[in-house]
Amino acid sequence: MESVQSERFCSSDADLVLQSSDGVQFKVHRKIMSRHSDVFMDANNISDGVSGDVVELAESAKVLDLLLSLMYRLDHAKTNLRNAGFDVLTAVADAAEKYYFDMASGICEVYMCEYSAEHPLEVMEYAIKHNYFDAMDSAAPWLMDKSSSEVLDTFEELKFLRAWMKYYSACTRRLGEIYSNQPSYSTLGHSYNTCPAEDALPKAVLQAIAIMKTDPVSFHNTDNLFSRPLITAAACPTCYEWFVGWKKQIASGIDSVSKFSTFIQK
Ligand SMILES: [Zn+2]
Repeated sequence: MESVQSERFCSSDADLVLQSSDGVQFKVHRKIMSRHSDVFMDANNISDGVSGDVVELAESAKVLDLLLSLMYRLDHAKTNLRNAGFDVLTAVADAAEKYYFDMASGICEVYMCEYSAEHPLEVMEYAIKHNYFDAMDSAAPWLMDKSSSEVLDTFEELKFLRAWMKYYSACTRRLGEIYSNQPSYSTLGHSYNTCPAEDALPKAVLQAIAIMKTDPVSFHNTDNLFSRPLITAAACPTCYEWFVGWKKQIASGIDSVSKFSTFIQK
């Protein structure tokens, strides 16, 4: 393959050349590399393909560039990684693990957590693979509405599967309590007769229940999802207050359940 020189890593006093899978060469310094990872002390550790002074790596140029930028503590290295998109971030995270580059692994875990809502299964898979509890706890609440077959594939290992079963049942029990504890006119002093909007509260509650039925993770985003029920309840200040209290309970419902990782038998 014809190789291209990286514009960022092209120092003339470099003593190691890394080549990406897509043929870009990075001139780097062993001294800096070995500060972060013992692996780079000996080029034979990281590749089978040592041809001359060039070490061929399995990662793409995009991934290597981000990884090396972290090692060299370049400006915007973290921001660039954060903005690189989920697939690139996943590849950088895998490379960081492979090369025992702990500082990058830690940064990747933080950014992976930010994708919990968008890619909960992938984040959980990554967290389990590398045993990262914070990432597991971050992804777990977003798995509530995934099909059981999808989720079960993620938890191949028995101890994680057991933890998931326990966590899932604790969450559904808690949410069930909140959902069934819906506010109603049975409270003294306010009824259809005294409510200026007559049926603001029951209407809003029914609307909210309809949303929760079709969206099991609606507790994540009650502000947006419950916008219509909120407008309905707003027709009466008393009803509105009750409804907002219930909505708050729903929104924080899962927070009162122990984190996923606490269910893992150690
Ligand atoms: Zn009312």
